[in-house]
Amino acid sequence: MKVLVINAGSSSLKYQLYDMNDESVLAKGLVERIGMDSSILTHKPTGKEEVTEVSEILEHTTAIRKVLDKLVDKEHGVLNSVDEIQAVGHRVVHGGEAFKSSALVTPEAKAEIRRLFDLAPLHNPPAISGITAAEKNMPGVPQVVVFDTAFHQTMEEKVFLYPIPKVLYKKHHVRRYGMHGTSHYYVSRVAAEYLNRPLEDLKIITCHIGNGGSLTAIKDGKSYDTSMGLTPLEGLMMGTRSGDLDPAVVTFVMNKEELTISEVNSMLNKHSGLLAISGSSSDMRDITDGLEAGEPNATLAFEMYEYRLRKYIGSYAAALNGVDVIVFTAGVGENSAVVREKVCENLTYLGVEIDPELNKIRSGEPRRISSANSKVEVLVVPTNEELVIARDTLRIVEESK
Ligand code: AMP
Repeated sequence: MKVLVINAGSSSLKYQLYDMNDESVLAKGLVERIGMDSSILTHKPTGKEEVTEVSEILEHTTAIRKVLDKLVDKEHGVLNSVDEIQAVGHRVVHGGEAFKSSALVTPEAKAEIRRLFDLAPLHNPPAISGITAAEKNMPGVPQVVVFDTAFHQTMEEKVFLYPIPKVLYKKHHVRRYGMHGTSHYYVSRVAAEYLNRPLEDLKIITCHIGNGGSLTAIKDGKSYDTSMGLTPLEGLMMGTRSGDLDPAVVTFVMNKEELTISEVNSMLNKHSGLLAISGSSSDMRDITDGLEAGEPNATLAFEMYEYRLRKYIGSYAAALNGVDVIVFTAGVGENSAVVREKVCENLTYLGVEIDPELNKIRSGEPRRISSANSKVEVLVVPTNEELVIARDTLRIVEESK
């Protein structure tokens, strides 16, 4: 079966076409600047040259049509006909409490995703645009929705509730949901497989650290706790997001600086984190370059980032009453040897010891970076959220037959 995976943002749309017979990627690409002048489609067919095309793409329906045109293009295509695509899988950020796993797209499922717009105003509306656009372009082809929040639906009430008036949970569904679920799910499974140990026997802390970042404590293969909350703002210090702070900071700053809700939201989501402290960049590559050069602001940003990450690992070791495996993944986790080194340097009380040579290797494959003496296995596992979406899509479509 050929499955098209779609990740629709407000002005972008990423795609990957899988042949699920061998889980190979036939093509992938990205449409950027949807709704703006000169939109850009970058299409990479496996084994062929990447192509870039600039045109006007005003909305997602046109974006998907252009993608399908490329997939069957004589020169750059990988399919004879669009009919070869037998299912479409969509990434949706917020599934609230309604979606505990992936689901077939039905009018009811779409209505539920719309009801969740409030909880993910930046993410769920474009996901609906992507679904509607795929339905228009590929009528009759089954579509599946895969949620970032679903894996975390196993959290217990004592973990997911905030200690605020309970009526807010009842009325407005205010609670911890957590994000990056497909990634935490995937890397924990790959880690157990790599170690050749039953998932149920392992206490795992997965560190998905990219531009956004979250940690998950995994027990019996299930999400026990995770650092993102109602929204992706809670938890770790991130590229441009603050992560945890005293909630009173928000009202204090709004009062002093006369900020509106949208201004304070923008400050915390777009102008905080590494960017705010370094004063120059949200990208960990720039921060570590600054660290090496002894630049004080970059050094402080790095130290804060590492410290906060390490505190979370410690608190999740406490939550799980121990830890067997720590997994690093996503842009920073997979690529930054220095972040991994500095975090692990201060986890010796847990019995963590990494091998500096193994830590330097880059392979794109799951690998161990802990030494033979380490009491905790420390792994780097490249994440693959698209593959999880493709697998779930295949499973749900076959189950629905
Ligand atoms: P992601 O959100 O998972 O795509 O991760 C993107 C982030 O990964 C970038 O903003 C960088 O901060 C970080 N990153 C990518 N490559 C490296 C690298 N070689 N060293 C440090 N950080 C990196």
